[in-house]
Amino acid sequence: MVDGVFELRLGYVNVHLVVTDDGLVLVDTGLPGRAPVIERALRGVRRSLGEVRTVLVTHHHPDHVGSLAEVKRRSGARLVAHAADAPHITGAFPAAAPAGALGRLVSRMIGTVEPTKLDQLVPDGGEPVPGFTALHTPGHTRGHLSFLLDRAGGVLFAGDAAASRRGRVSGPPRPVTADPAQAAASLARLAEREFEVAVFGHGRAVTGRAVEAFRAAVAG
Ligand SMILES: [Zn+2]
Ligand SMILES: [Zn+2]
Repeated sequence: MVDGVFELRLGYVNVHLVVTDDGLVLVDTGLPGRAPVIERALRGVRRSLGEVRTVLVTHHHPDHVGSLAEVKRRSGARLVAHAADAPHITGAFPAAAPAGALGRLVSRMIGTVEPTKLDQLVPDGGEPVPGFTALHTPGHTRGHLSFLLDRAGGVLFAGDAAASRRGRVSGPPRPVTADPAQAAASLARLAEREFEVAVFGHGRAVTGRAVEAFRAAVAG
């Protein structure tokens, strides 16, 4: 894809690994109990979980922070997120359990997310790791972050601010998005940046002037 950028496909959600001068960076951690799967995937690229120095968290949903506490225990990595999502990650303000029978079924399938302390809260425009710019992209969640890596013309880690399907980009699915209008505004802000490659929490990477796919999504 891009030198030193790896996509670990953990079922329907992706985790990304980036090799930097500042050590290994993981973007998100997948569902609860996925640390061994991440470890196996890292061994596939001759790395190990213990080498992870930083975890950049896009947002507090369980398919992204599910294995955060375990990754922290096994690596000692520095955990970075946005302040607005932090209370849902640290357990200070747990996200409400999904309502109804379907909600209970889904939460049983997902498992319980173990809360964990964060090491750094990063604002819009912050640089949590040299080369990475945090972009506050609220809407899907209030504290959603995307990350722009200054490498190979720009690599956007969109998280769930956008999703891809067959090379096309769209905003996050409305039923799991806190504020769809704000999410649309965040998508438009991403489309104003410049990047060649985009990777997502859900869906395959888009390569080669990826920003044009975002501009097409905003244009409708
Ligand atoms: Zn999400
Ligand atoms: Zn997700």
